Amino acid sequence: MTDQVDTLFTRIIKREIPAEIVYEDDLCIAINDIAPQAAVHVLLIPKQQIPRLADATESERAILGHLMLVAGDISRQLGVDEAFRLVVNNGADAGQTVFHLHLHILANPKDSKQFSESDIGI
Ligand code: 5GP
Repeated sequence: MTDQVDTLFTRIIKREIPAEIVYEDDLCIAINDIAPQAAVHVLLIPKQQIPRLADATESERAILGHLMLVAGDISRQLGVDEAFRLVVNNGADAGQTVFHLHLHILANPKDSKQFSESDIGI
């Protein structure tokens, strides 16, 4: 067991910080982003603390695959499976602010368009 400091997302997973949870299983959690950049803006987060995608190793192959499949499940759950984007910011210079790997699931369903494509600056 390492003495890893809990990230913001681990504290959300532990229910120490509130969040709107849209999906959870043994390996990951999905929450609504607190500052959405699209009508649908969900963060899909592995429970395991991997700081950045570039830090993932062979032993994380299964969780990375799991996240992709769950992203598809969530898109169907939210009715945006025909049109959504997945974004991973890797590193501060790429806009990463929380150093706990997460996938942004972004969508603007036609009937709830709040932002234009160019507004999705993530
Ligand atoms: P990054 O910039 O690291 O790729 O994405 C971090 C995301 O976490 C941002 O989109 C930001 O709005 C979101 N975020 C930061 N703090 C919180 C929080 O306390 N709760 C939730 N739900 N999202 C957060």
